[in-house]
Amino acid sequence: MMGLLSSRAPEGGERYHLSETRELIPMPLMYKIRILKNGEAMVPGPLIFNLSRYNEEVRIALYFYLIEGNDKTIVVDTGMDDMPSRFGFKTVGPCKNTLPLLKEAGINPKDVDYLILTHLHGDHCTNIKLFTKAKIVISRREWLHVIAPTYRELSPDSGPTREAAAYLAGEAWSRLVLVGDEEEVLPGLSLFWTGGHTPGSQCVSVKTRMGRAIITGDVVDLYENLEKNIPVGIHYNLFECFDAMKRIRREADIVLTMHEPKVLERYPTGVVG
Ligand SMILES: [Zn+2]
Repeated sequence: MMGLLSSRAPEGGERYHLSETRELIPMPLMYKIRILKNGEAMVPGPLIFNLSRYNEEVRIALYFYLIEGNDKTIVVDTGMDDMPSRFGFKTVGPCKNTLPLLKEAGINPKDVDYLILTHLHGDHCTNIKLFTKAKIVISRREWLHVIAPTYRELSPDSGPTREAAAYLAGEAWSRLVLVGDEEEVLPGLSLFWTGGHTPGSQCVSVKTRMGRAIITGDVVDLYENLEKNIPVGIHYNLFECFDAMKRIRREADIVLTMHEPKVLERYPTGVVG
């Protein structure tokens, strides 16, 4: 009986605990997601809503996510530092860098087991070197897009994406995990490829006590994209954007984007699950 109480989850991702009546009760693996926010910024409307809102600026937030469960610590995207000076964002209100945000959450980046990158845009991978022990999980399609692009014009010669690629091809090579289009990282935590925003964009699907959460990457920026079926303005493939939104609407109980200010209005404690 004690064997079942060990930390190793049996097949099917179920753990067990002893109830007061000493019976074994199945306990599904669940994760808790913490919303970490670097800040907010104003961006031109057409970046967020394809071919529309030309005369508007739209307020966005800049998040990354911390997932805990199954005795693992997982971070989704790296957050960013010095938003206005390094990324030229027109910020609104206070900004916080990634390291202090992780520290506040009680996390040393060296203890993170998995860093999942939804895609390799600079504002999602710039702090990759903080995570010195983590397995770094990227879509194989995104990796190829960055290191062996069909159109070099679409792959910048410098900046955080190139720096991340150099780090991954060098120092962090043994920790780089390239994944296919449907992958389970851990029981109850899986990835699926969407493309659309970039050729290798992927979503993270997470089982929580509040339901199935999907962390969308940038294939959706705001809830309005999903609600009105308007693709994001930055994309490589519009058909893939529509397909991604359809799947997210179908599968998600909870939608967590990287840029929707309303995420923290829906989940004001900053915790999902
Ligand atoms: Zn992006």
